[in-house]
Amino acid sequence: MSILNRFVKKNGSTKFKYGFEVTGEKGIFTEYLKRIPQCDCGVEEIYLELVSKDEIRSLVCEEFGECALQKINKGSPETEIKDEAYFIKIESARACIFAMRPISFIYAAENIISNMVDGEIFCGAVYNYPDKEFRGLKAFLPRRENFDYFYKLIDFCLAYGLNTIVLEVGGAMEYKSHPEINDGWIEYCNMFKETPGKSVEYQNSFDFLKNSIHWENGGGSFLKQEEVKELVKYCKDRGINVIPEQPMMSHSDYLLFKHKEFAEREEDPTPDAYCPKNEGVLKLCTDLLDEIIEVFEPQIIHIGHDELYSVGLCEKCKGEDPARLYADDINFYNRYLKRKNIKTMIWCDKLLDAHDKTGQNWGGAERKGYFEDGSLKYFVPATYRSYELIDKDVLLMHWYWSVDSQFDYKLTEKYDFCYGNFTGISMIDADKRMKLKSFGFCVSNWAECEEVLLQRNGIFFHIAYNSMMVWSDSFCSLDYIENIKKVSEDIYKYFNSRTSAQKFITFIHNTSTFKPHMAFVDGAFPVKEEDYVGKYELLFNNGETKSFDIYYGLNIGYSKNTFVQREDSVFDCYEYDKQLFETTYRCRYIPDQNEMFYEYKVPIENHLNLTSWQFIPSGKYDVKIKSVKGS
Ligand SMILES: [Zn+2]
Repeated sequence: MSILNRFVKKNGSTKFKYGFEVTGEKGIFTEYLKRIPQCDCGVEEIYLELVSKDEIRSLVCEEFGECALQKINKGSPETEIKDEAYFIKIESARACIFAMRPISFIYAAENIISNMVDGEIFCGAVYNYPDKEFRGLKAFLPRRENFDYFYKLIDFCLAYGLNTIVLEVGGAMEYKSHPEINDGWIEYCNMFKETPGKSVEYQNSFDFLKNSIHWENGGGSFLKQEEVKELVKYCKDRGINVIPEQPMMSHSDYLLFKHKEFAEREEDPTPDAYCPKNEGVLKLCTDLLDEIIEVFEPQIIHIGHDELYSVGLCEKCKGEDPARLYADDINFYNRYLKRKNIKTMIWCDKLLDAHDKTGQNWGGAERKGYFEDGSLKYFVPATYRSYELIDKDVLLMHWYWSVDSQFDYKLTEKYDFCYGNFTGISMIDADKRMKLKSFGFCVSNWAECEEVLLQRNGIFFHIAYNSMMVWSDSFCSLDYIENIKKVSEDIYKYFNSRTSAQKFITFIHNTSTFKPHMAFVDGAFPVKEEDYVGKYELLFNNGETKSFDIYYGLNIGYSKNTFVQREDSVFDCYEYDKQLFETTYRCRYIPDQNEMFYEYKVPIENHLNLTSWQFIPSGKYDVKIKSVKGS
């Protein structure tokens, strides 16, 4: 994408001619070039070539000079070329793309498309590369009916320079060796589907801490192994690395629903933590891992291990060091997977002695909760000493970067880590910290893998923002407002370029009715009727009419949203107006005086001309309309 541009040289301009030929390397990536807008004259051939590092180096040197290479290592004499770098040369009748990996042909195709303005592109050259090798999105498995959307999502990730998807498996994939897991999963999910937030209410109804419930994984059902293979194939064919995530020890409700005999906490009717000293559960888990390995053929498996609340409780574990129990369980899987040439990844909150600004303990620190009368409600023992006990080659997904920035430095002393649940926009000292030794970042959507939820959770915004941090030389986290505008404009352009339509109706509007922002996670989902703002009815010159529904947070936003950024009062990060990013994708921001407006476009057929329109409100929201225009 053009917001990911690093080195660009412009000298004149050209277009792409209808039916241009793609020569050189052939593959799935040539499909992405076909989306380039075409017209009567211009580039007739796009040539693709896989080249060596040395060849990229000499192309870059020739075009941009030695200094372009020096910049990579900030002046160090070694001029390393990143594996995913690509080089584009555009001349009036021919374009060439050089890369070392096929995935970079897709990055380059999307770069060309986004650099085009009204069907035109500059002649010249582009040289781009990412600073970090791992750029991911964590998602749930989609429901069967939503595979087409899943593929569209992968294409979005590719357009924004990602190369990894972490897919939570849990109960949402068929297990041939243990069909009871899938039966239990369906029964369990059915407990929560009826109303939004029912699973959160259930989770909080106990006198001890319980894990959040991921019943939206697979849409609350499970996919056949053959179906999961299709999803994996789509990703791998395009060079996307797929990491299955199998939560174990904690978040193990899907394992234990039909195997209560393995529960660490006896009194829990739906246990979420297992006893790591029970050989039966380890056998069950490795059986399932073997099936996952067969389906995904992964290089890395993420084994969860976050938010462990029930440990050291059962007869076998009482008196044992919880940090040791925790580390032993991780090391057991790490060694099991290593024998199969697979790396292990975990969430690393339990390795950290974490406290927020108010003094409250988190992560691997000892935690206590109290009843209103002051008596002890729950106790979670410390596990942070496991930092010393876990195998050094376990990869960490570090999502406590927002709790205490000092953890970055502690982790680099011993482990390789990437930032997890990453929203770069909230990171304090981001420019400095992104230069530390982390191998990358991963954004997470803790809700059903579905377009509206991803948008309203700001996931598209965060993917693009994070990517800009690692794909651009000019990025500076202090240009906060400019960055937000750039990202949202760019995503809006991407969203509207997915249609072949040439004509649009553009609405600019807002609502002054405030609805508190809600993260759609852990079983909280939007209710369409509650968000229904009203509809536009449009009349066209030929007597045809069309109507378009407007929903809060989807294609209209709150008028008082602002580009604020302030330090969070509890955690070591920035706080921002979360509601603002909810509409990003379908809308762009139009700030006006002290108000925020939202532009939203719908495609219409070429022969239609708008003659009149009216808005029919639902009555629940106050709506202000700035303009409704045809193009
Ligand atoms: Zn136990």
